[in-house]
Amino acid sequence: MEIKVTIADPKRMKPKPQDESQLGFGRIFTDHFFIVKHDAGKGWHGPSIEPIRPLSLDPASMCLHYGQEIFEGMKAYRGDDDSIYLFRPEENIKRMTRSAERLCMPPMDEGLFMEALKKLVLLEKDWIPHGAGTSLYIRPTMIATEIALGVHPSNRYLFFIIVGPVGAYYAEGFGPTKIYVSEKYTRSAPGGVGDCKAAGNYAASLYAGREASKMGYTQVLWLDARERRYVEEVGTSNIFFMIGNDLITPPLSGSILPGIMRDSIIRLAGSWGINVLQRQLSIDEILQANADGTLKEVFASGTAAIVSPVGQVYCRGKEYVIGDGGIGSLTGRLYDEILQIQYGKKADPFGWRVKIS
Ligand SMILES: *Cc1c(COP(=O)(O)O)cnc(C)c1O
Repeated sequence: MEIKVTIADPKRMKPKPQDESQLGFGRIFTDHFFIVKHDAGKGWHGPSIEPIRPLSLDPASMCLHYGQEIFEGMKAYRGDDDSIYLFRPEENIKRMTRSAERLCMPPMDEGLFMEALKKLVLLEKDWIPHGAGTSLYIRPTMIATEIALGVHPSNRYLFFIIVGPVGAYYAEGFGPTKIYVSEKYTRSAPGGVGDCKAAGNYAASLYAGREASKMGYTQVLWLDARERRYVEEVGTSNIFFMIGNDLITPPLSGSILPGIMRDSIIRLAGSWGINVLQRQLSIDEILQANADGTLKEVFASGTAAIVSPVGQVYCRGKEYVIGDGGIGSLTGRLYDEILQIQYGKKADPFGWRVKIS
């Protein structure tokens, strides 16, 4: 399938942001997007890259009522020599296929997906910022567009990719965050869709996030839905604990999103000789390890930040400081190493980097 490309009228193109320190996240989008339709019986058809525009949707479009919507999040990075890189894009593509299957949506053709990604990023190359830690954020999305009420899988879909420049996650420095253990609300239950990037998961997480924020915490530490004992994720990131000489992260039980950064950290730390364990970890074990002084570091992981150190944890009315409340040495080492791989500054022993220009 050929991707038809229509270039925006240069007079209508947006000015590119001049001050890279003001980019923030998710507010600026480029001049073009990729879009393709799916109809039952016809499959994916008419892929195109065209000037970005509002979508016109009938108010009875199914995505607006029943949440049949999935997405991905990834980035393109500019190296010092102006090379452009993606980081493990085939993993995002495979994950979106799994999300689609779980939500009864048609998987996007993986070859077309990769081609669309590369073509769109290259077309919007001049939007990729130059500053350390900045990147072009990429948001593939699929929505159900059949015009019908009644809960059933839609027979029409739209898949699109929008991209936009984003600032360095740590514009104000690589600082520790404070997290809040929610014992009342959960993100994802066994048998649910917590292991998919399904839009509804994020709507369902907002209330607990607001509660944490009111208490002065940046993110929610989610516990398992069945026992409210075992840690699962933090906010929209995976989580790691360094206890003694073990780096521990919860196993992919079905209610945890299989982060690509999570997998990258497991492999990288393993290659450094660190004992990495994927096992259940209760909040009580963590608080005990903290009391004993064996809990050395806690950090979250994800595409947005690579790793994000946790300095304080609030649980059952008390605040606990992790280590000295600062940034752990392994957290810092992982951050530096992965950042340098992403920006083409270091050898890429795992073949994670995809150079597209
Ligand atoms: C996207 C996401 C992550 C992190 O995934 P990465 O592939 O590492 O960016 C973790 N948890 C949730 C709930 C997510 O949505």
